[in-house]
Amino acid sequence: MKISLVIPIYNEELLIDRLLEETVKSLKQISEDFEIICVDDGSKDESLNKLSEYKKKEPRIKVVVLSRNFGHQAAYTAGLNYAKGDFVGMMDGDLQDPPALFFDMNNLLTTGNYDVVFGHRKGRKEKFIKRIVILFFHKIFSRLSNINAPANVGNFSMMNRKALNAFLNLQEKNRYLPGLRYFIGFRQGFVEYERPDRQIGEAKMNFSRLFKLALDALFSFSKIPIRLCWIIGLLGILFSLGGSSIVIYKKLIGDAISGWASILVSIYFLGSVQLFFLGIVGEYIHRIFVETQNRPIFIVREFLD
Ligand code: UDP
Ligand code: MG
Repeated sequence: MKISLVIPIYNEELLIDRLLEETVKSLKQISEDFEIICVDDGSKDESLNKLSEYKKKEPRIKVVVLSRNFGHQAAYTAGLNYAKGDFVGMMDGDLQDPPALFFDMNNLLTTGNYDVVFGHRKGRKEKFIKRIVILFFHKIFSRLSNINAPANVGNFSMMNRKALNAFLNLQEKNRYLPGLRYFIGFRQGFVEYERPDRQIGEAKMNFSRLFKLALDALFSFSKIPIRLCWIIGLLGILFSLGGSSIVIYKKLIGDAISGWASILVSIYFLGSVQLFFLGIVGEYIHRIFVETQNRPIFIVREFLD
């Protein structure tokens, strides 16, 4: 049984030695037949040199070098495409996903009762605000998504070849991998863990990147935003029918007064509701546009085998 591990790397020069040391140690506990596929996602620091340096010591490390920064969902996708293992794991490159857990994931897969095993976070040790925002996202996502995806689950996972092939067949450009991984079905299990905070360096997923990921997740896996448009539109029509009949009645009995405030308020309100939903429709059009452009999800500059 060969094991592949995919790790996206973006400006992690300070971490790489420790990361690879711990990862290699954990994998050796499972099997000597493994490969670690590090995807350099257009790092601007010494990450790539550090990786090639380490590769001299440990040839089971492979490096996929992307032509620029494509974002970590694309980087994972690139690495998965190069993985040759029977079991393939995904792990962040900042040791927030403890590699020692692959031992348990591997055990669950070898029982033959599971095809996909993901890490379920019991708790997290990140900054308070980030934790709250992420909790909020997971609550909304698991409520709204049409795939009943579990909450508090990220990329950290391992799957067998059958599941991976199905996963690689999903070619959409706006990617939210935990959702796609759940979408493919198969028999999915999990191991629980406490997610520690990043030990070294800054989070590379800043607020706007996380926000984009959250939108990708919601718009790809939920009909609610577009459905809200016509539900609120319908309520508005009912409301205005009621309002109009009162107005017409008052006009008929000659009780009409100059309603400056009410007119302005309703214009303001309806104007902004329309703008808001125009924006939602725009999100969908943008996503359709991106899909039809059909650009590659990632571009590889070099593969260090
Ligand atoms: N990462 C990447 N490309 C990016 C941003 C991040 O490959 O554009 C990598 C990063 O090096 C790390 C992993 O993705 O290995 C997760 O990033 P980070 O720790 O910043 O994300 P968070 O913990 O906030 O989800
Ligand atoms: Mg992190």
